[in-house]
Amino acid sequence: MTRALAMISGGLDSILSAKLIKDQGIEVIGICFKSYFFDEENAKRMTEQIGIPLEVVDFSVEHFEMVKDPKNGWGKNMNPCIDCHAMMMRYSGELIKKFNADFIITGEVLNQRPMSQNRQALNKVRKESGFKDIILRPLCAKNLDETEMEKSGLVDREKLLDISGRSRKVQMELAEKWGIKDYPSPAGGCRLTEPNYSLRLKESLERNGDVSPKEIELLRFGRHFVSENGCKIIATRTKDEGDRIKNVLTKEDLVLYPTSHNGAMIVISGKYNEEDKELAAKIAGRYCKGKDLDEVEISYGKFGCKFEGTLKVKPASEDEINKYIIQGK
Ligand code: SF4
Repeated sequence: MTRALAMISGGLDSILSAKLIKDQGIEVIGICFKSYFFDEENAKRMTEQIGIPLEVVDFSVEHFEMVKDPKNGWGKNMNPCIDCHAMMMRYSGELIKKFNADFIITGEVLNQRPMSQNRQALNKVRKESGFKDIILRPLCAKNLDETEMEKSGLVDREKLLDISGRSRKVQMELAEKWGIKDYPSPAGGCRLTEPNYSLRLKESLERNGDVSPKEIELLRFGRHFVSENGCKIIATRTKDEGDRIKNVLTKEDLVLYPTSHNGAMIVISGKYNEEDKELAAKIAGRYCKGKDLDEVEISYGKFGCKFEGTLKVKPASEDEINKYIIQGK
C-alpha cells in the first residue's frame, strides 16, 4: 500500500492536504513538530478529526539554533518560515525509512504568504530540505510542476487542487464538506509570528547573547521590563497568568506582591541587585489598587518560600513604566 507522511502544522491547510491524499486510498501518517515556540496540541486535535495517527518530533534545540540566525532571514516578526519549513521537511524526510513511506505531503499553498510561500520560496524549501523529489503539495499541486509521485501514478494528479493566493474560501468549503471544525487561524500557535513576543525574544538575545528554555517560556507571560542593570522584571496581568507562570518559576526567582493593596504578582528572574528590587517593587505598586497613592507596601521573597522582607515605595510613574517596558511602538 502506498504510504505518505503528512507534515501537520495544526492549521487547516495541512489537515486538508492529508485528507485529500487519504481519500485517494493512500495511508497517511501525520508528523508534527514541537519546539520552544509551538507545541503539538493543535496537530493532535486536528488529526483526530480526520482519523490519522500522529508522530510528534521534538526538535526544540536545533530549531532554536536556526531561529537565532536563519539562513533565509526572518519574516515580519522573528518567524524564519523558509528555514523552519525546510528543517521540518528534512526531519520528515529522515523519517521516511522508519515508516516505510513513499513520499511527504505538506499543506503549503502557492502565494498564500508573500515571503515564505511564493514560487521561489517553495522551490527553495524543497531543495534545502534535501528531499526535493519526494515532496508533494496537494492543495496547490496543479499550479506546480508534476512530481514523480504523480508521473508514476502513485498519486492521481486529477484529484489534487490548484489553490493559490490568500483567500481561504476553498479551504473553508472543504472543511465544511468534510466536517472539520474548530481549526486555528493560519500560523495560529506559532509564537514567533507574534509581534510582542518576537520583540521580547530579540531583546533577550541581544542582551544576553543566548536565552535558556526557561527564559523562553517566561517570554509568554505578562508585561516585561528591563532595568538599567539588565535585570528582567515581569508583571503578570491576570490571575490566570499568575497561576500559569508559577509552573515555570523556581526557588531562584524572586516574587513580589503588594501587601497593602490588591495587585499583580511581579517576578524577577535571574540576577538582580537592590536597585532592581526597588524598581520591581515600584512596578508592583503601579499595577495594584494603590497606584495613585504616595506609598504602597510590597513584600518579596523567593518563589515558594516565606516573604523575606517588605519595601515601602512610591508606585512607578507612567514615564518610568515607558522607560523600562519592552513593547512595540
Ligand atoms: S509560522 Fe512558525 S512554525 Fe510555521 S513555518 Fe513559520 S516559524 Fe515555522
